[in-house]
Amino acid sequence: MNNYRNYINGEWLESVSNETVVNINPANIKDIIGTVKLSTREEARGAVEAAYNAFRDWKNTPAPTRGRIVMKAARLLEDNKEELAQILTREEGKTIGESRGELQRSINVAEFCAGEARRLNGETIQSELPANFAYTIKEPHGVVALITPWNFPVAIPIWKIAPALVAGNTIVFKPAESTPATAVRIVELFEEAGLPQGVLNMILGAGAEVGDEIANHPAVKAISFTGSTATGLKLYAQVAGRGVKVQCEMGGKNPVVVMEDCDMDLAVESTAQGAFGSTGQRCTATSRAVVVDKIADEFVRKIVERAQKMRIGDGAVSNTEMGPIVDEKQFRNVLKYIDIGREDGAEMLCGGKRASGDGLENGYFVEPTVFDRVTPDMRIAQEEIFGPILSVLRVKDFDEAMIAANDSQYGLTSSIFTTDPNLIFRFVGEIETGMTHINSPTTGGEAHIPFGGVKMTGIGAREQGSTALDFYTELKVVYVDYTGRKREGNLY
Ligand code: ADP
Repeated sequence: MNNYRNYINGEWLESVSNETVVNINPANIKDIIGTVKLSTREEARGAVEAAYNAFRDWKNTPAPTRGRIVMKAARLLEDNKEELAQILTREEGKTIGESRGELQRSINVAEFCAGEARRLNGETIQSELPANFAYTIKEPHGVVALITPWNFPVAIPIWKIAPALVAGNTIVFKPAESTPATAVRIVELFEEAGLPQGVLNMILGAGAEVGDEIANHPAVKAISFTGSTATGLKLYAQVAGRGVKVQCEMGGKNPVVVMEDCDMDLAVESTAQGAFGSTGQRCTATSRAVVVDKIADEFVRKIVERAQKMRIGDGAVSNTEMGPIVDEKQFRNVLKYIDIGREDGAEMLCGGKRASGDGLENGYFVEPTVFDRVTPDMRIAQEEIFGPILSVLRVKDFDEAMIAANDSQYGLTSSIFTTDPNLIFRFVGEIETGMTHINSPTTGGEAHIPFGGVKMTGIGAREQGSTALDFYTELKVVYVDYTGRKREGNLY
């Protein structure tokens, strides 16, 4: 059994706290992986101070040198990919294939960011005046707080840590309470990669305590948060008075629009992948299928058949298609939404309960669930569930489909299934999401492509890809006058 420790100023320190939570395998709750001490506010302040003290030297370390360390971490992630994937499946529950995919994404992101270290360029700008010019420099903020959730406990920390380091910031990293083992291994690999002490610090503990403490610490100049909308918005409002830079990646309620001229089998398989893959615990999961009436019966029949065929089980077993829900709280929440869907009058066509069978007795398994004839006013059409639940909304035509698809406070991702190029481009123009997919699932993304949402999903600059460093840098503008004379004209 592991007792996870904080990493502060280059040292692994056990928290003095007596409050603990256990890290449990959600596929088998008898498999206790370790214990997390919920660190104190004072320890959180210590982590911020360490990051603060390390900032000047790290900022003055040449960006390519910083990038080299991130590249070394990418290599170490690759060397330890299988071990990390196994830990990830054991503590979060996703299938081993999904874990390997997450690891590969993380390696790609770290490699991409390391390369960006040699491109941390500003621009030179022509002046209106003779013998004058201006240029820009990208500079780090200082201490940044990175607050992450449990659902991608390797990829999300990496896609925040890597660009933050390359940009020259120092870090206090606060992982989710339920996934400490992956967090500890990530930090160990960055330590092994040669980060100087204090540059990356990790504090384990409760969001409302240590998360709150670091977010509200005056030395923290920027906060990148991924998690629920409720927490993100609260955090945003709380720190606004300090003028801190905030980046929040929050909820989603991602629709697929299925048109009558689609490749039906492709639409069904992609919707199933999007809705039930990672047990629906992705911010990019497909949670609404908006289907035109003409083909709705066929779509619903096929998606139910597919849902019923999902192989549910321990993610560590190689042919499992869908693992458990991450923990008891989430498990109860998903079951609660199934009740809400029924009470609101949606037609439940399959699933709807705890999954049973050989090997499922001790885990938080839920059957993939399809609700038909969901209307936009129902809570299961509006609220993020984070489980393998699909709501089908039937609509008359494309115009009605767009109204239904956009009837959401969220705007992360979406997709359309059609073979009509005109509809594809109308959809791209009208859909209110930060990312969209054509004839493919709502999920998935690449390391060198920006990621993020609009509406209540996203605040601040996009993460990853060409925009990855935007949030982690400030722009300094420098005016140079080499006339050696007092300025005349243009005095504004
Ligand atoms: P999830 O449902 O994905 O766990 P949360 O928004 O509750 O979503 O948690 C995401 C991250 O935010 C976690 O690391 C959690 O500990 C942290 N967190 C929760 N509450 C707060 C808070 N008040 N201040 C700062 N961080 C918080």
